[in-house]
Amino acid sequence: MNTTIDIKITQTSTSKLSTTDFDNLQFGQTISDHMFIADFKDGEWTDFRVEPYAPLMLNPANATLHYGQSVFEGMKAYKSKAGETLIFRADANQKRLNNSAKRLCIPEVPEDLFMEGLKKLLEIDNEWIPNRAGYSLYIRPFVFATDDYLGIRPSNKYKFIIFTCPVGHYYAKPVTVKVETAYSRACEGGTGFAKAAGNYAGSLYPASLVQKQGYDQLLWTDSKSHQNIEESGTMNIMFVINDTLFTAPLTTSTILAGITRDSVLTLAREMGMNVEERFVTVTELEDALHSGQLKEAFGTGTAATIAHISLINVNEEDYHLPEKPKDSFSYKILEELDAIKYGKKEDTHGWIMKL
Ligand code: PMP
Repeated sequence: MNTTIDIKITQTSTSKLSTTDFDNLQFGQTISDHMFIADFKDGEWTDFRVEPYAPLMLNPANATLHYGQSVFEGMKAYKSKAGETLIFRADANQKRLNNSAKRLCIPEVPEDLFMEGLKKLLEIDNEWIPNRAGYSLYIRPFVFATDDYLGIRPSNKYKFIIFTCPVGHYYAKPVTVKVETAYSRACEGGTGFAKAAGNYAGSLYPASLVQKQGYDQLLWTDSKSHQNIEESGTMNIMFVINDTLFTAPLTTSTILAGITRDSVLTLAREMGMNVEERFVTVTELEDALHSGQLKEAFGTGTAATIAHISLINVNEEDYHLPEKPKDSFSYKILEELDAIKYGKKEDTHGWIMKL
């Protein structure tokens, strides 16, 4: 598919723009006026359209509801000071969607379908992209099975949908985390590297247990030894121990290849930081906390960008981390990333697509 795709447009006659309170945006609760939809049937993607955002009709036998054949993405668009629309690393999200799709036996979404659908949607809902510091438009592309069939086999029909939400800051304050050594998010050979809906369903119960104990999120450990620290909630985890930045490697199929993770590692290497992509163990973390060698800990993800961690519980002991001064590594990286995303700094990496 190399030609411009034909997208049918139906605009809403009842925009929610004027009644939306952009000063009080709750993450994921305010949804923009339109959505892009494509259907997969008879072996190809067809019927490309932008429509008013509205509920879908689903048959109770819909395969996704029973067997979870569903993958999704999360990315953001920003407004520069000059009012341009800047989409951050959409190509990386498109590729990751297809990596996830492959693992779930879902047909891939061709690049031009993804990009042109996205661009058309953002053109139509352009006024939904907040034009203020710290705000952005969160973009949710997803694909799910639509066969009405009870039986375990890949669906023959799918929907690819993109909708968007204007958002402000994800975490208003630094987060507290607890190292989880009973449950795991993913296992080797499983679906942890994919953004598969079921991964998130499985994480809810362990997260609810630590939240009952007063922590915001958990630090996942591997399913075999519960020694290797894998991710933080739905973010990649990074530690600065002495003068080295550590994050889990992508070699075990258990870690989501975060696009923020990749951006942070790229910038860190350019800044001359030592970077090691290897697991930090629970014992190492405990030792580094005891000795004060753990300088910084933070999660990375599209929603939060960098979420500073202010407290880590390891083996039932709470360790407080110092406040992040402006000369800390994570603070500098956040500033640098934001400068690129909002177009204040030259995009030397080809990360920005202008609408
Ligand atoms: N890990 C998991 C499990 C996630 O769901 C996310 C959010 N997509 C991330 C890490 C961070 O990925 P990204 O930086 O691409 O948002």
